[in-house]
Amino acid sequence: MQLFEKLIEFPEAERLVLESTPLLPVEETPLGEALGLALAQDLTATTDSPPFDNSAVDGYALRSQDGEVGRVFRVIDEAPAGRPAQRSVGEGEAIKIFTGGVIPDGADAVVMVENTSGWGETVELKKVAAPGNNLRAAGEDTRRGAVILNAGTEIGAPEIALAATQGYGDLPVRRRPEVVVLSTGTELVEPGTRDLAPGEIFDSNSYAIVAAAREAGARARRLYAASDDADVLRPALEEALETADVVVTSGGVSVGEKDLVKSTMLDLGVEQVFWGVKFKPGKPLFYGTRGETRLFGLPGNPVSAMVCFDLFVRPALMRMTGRTDKDRPRIPVYFDKEVVNKFGRLHAMRVSLERTDKGWLAKSVGAQGSGLVSSLTKADALALIGPASNGIPPGEPIEAIVLRQEKLFS
Ligand code: AMP
Ligand code: MG
Repeated sequence: MQLFEKLIEFPEAERLVLESTPLLPVEETPLGEALGLALAQDLTATTDSPPFDNSAVDGYALRSQDGEVGRVFRVIDEAPAGRPAQRSVGEGEAIKIFTGGVIPDGADAVVMVENTSGWGETVELKKVAAPGNNLRAAGEDTRRGAVILNAGTEIGAPEIALAATQGYGDLPVRRRPEVVVLSTGTELVEPGTRDLAPGEIFDSNSYAIVAAAREAGARARRLYAASDDADVLRPALEEALETADVVVTSGGVSVGEKDLVKSTMLDLGVEQVFWGVKFKPGKPLFYGTRGETRLFGLPGNPVSAMVCFDLFVRPALMRMTGRTDKDRPRIPVYFDKEVVNKFGRLHAMRVSLERTDKGWLAKSVGAQGSGLVSSLTKADALALIGPASNGIPPGEPIEAIVLRQEKLFS
C-alpha cells in the first residue's frame, strides 16, 4: 500500500494543471460544429454584404424624381428575391419588387406597396418618393476585406450568421479536446440495466463527468465502468490513453488496497505531476501527463469527483481550445454565522447564495459529506474556507467560486 508522499496546496495544484495544459491545434471546422469554440484567427469579409443594392420592403422600384403623389406609373417587370428584373426603369415606369430583390437599373428608390394604390398593371403613388428610400446598399453591413471577427471571439449564433454571410463553410478554431471517461469500482452497475445486488451502486460519476466535459466544449465519451481488478483496469486505461487528449477516471485513486488507478497509470508510462491536494472534497486527486495526453484521476466520491472536475479539469479543457475567458466567476460572499473549518485543509463548501444589502449571503447547503449527490443540485457556489484554526466570524468576506452564474443576475 502507498500513502500520500506529499500533499500540495490547492493554488499550487491549479497552477501545475494550467501550466502543463497544451493548446490544441487549429483546424478548419464546419460552421455547424464550431459553436462555443474560439476563433483562432481574425476572420475577414470575402465579399461586400449585402452583395448588391436591394429592396428593404415589398413595393415598387422607380426613379425618385418621378415620385410625386398622385402620379400613375406603368408596371413593366418584377424583381422578386433571387431573380433580378430583365428591364431597367425609365421615366414614368415602375418595377414590382419584393424584399431582398435586386434594385433594377435606373431606379433609385422603392415605394412600399402600402403607400400606393396596390398591386396591378399600373400603380398610383400615395406618398412621395425620395432618393434612397427603402434601399439597402451593397456593403452596408460589411465591406470586403474588413476584419469582421477578431481572433479569440467565442463563436455563438450571431458569429455563425456573420461568417455564413461571407460564405465561410468552415472556421479556423482549435479542435475540441477528446475526453475519455473511465469509472472504476467493482461495485458499479450501469443505470437502467438491472436492479442492484447487495453492495452495488449505480455508476453516476462517469455520466456526470461526460456531461460536464461536453458543457466545457469537449467531445466526451464514457468507456465503461471497470472493476477494480488489475486485469480489467489496465487494458481499459490503455485504451483510454490511446484515444484521448484528456483521460478522466473516477475512483480507485486513494490509499485503499483496491486503489490501483495510480499505480496502473504509472505502469503505463504516465508521469505523475501530483497526487494528493490539501483540499476538501478531493484530497486523493491525481494528475499526470503522457506525451500530449493529460490524465486526471478523480476520487470516486461523487461530490469530490464533480468538484475536482469543475476546479481542475474544466479550466484545462477551456484552455486547450484557447478559451481564457470562461473561468467560473469568483466573488466575495459572507456567512451570517461563524464558520469553522476543522479539516486542516482548504474546504470548498457547497453553499447557496442569496443577494442581500450587504452583498452575497452564503449558506451551507447542509451536510457536506462527499457522497451526497443531492447536495450538488442545491449548490450555487463553492465557498473557499481556509484551514484557519479559529472560526471565520460572521460578515467576513470569503472568496467563492460561482457554479450557477445565472444566480448572479436573479
Ligand atoms: P473510491 O474513490 O474508489 O474509494 O470510491 C469512493 C466512494 O465513491 C465509494 O463509496 C464508491 O462506491 C463511490 N464511487 C466510486 N465510483 C463511483 C461512481 N462511478 N459513481 C458513483 N459512486 C462512485
Ligand atoms: Mg473504488
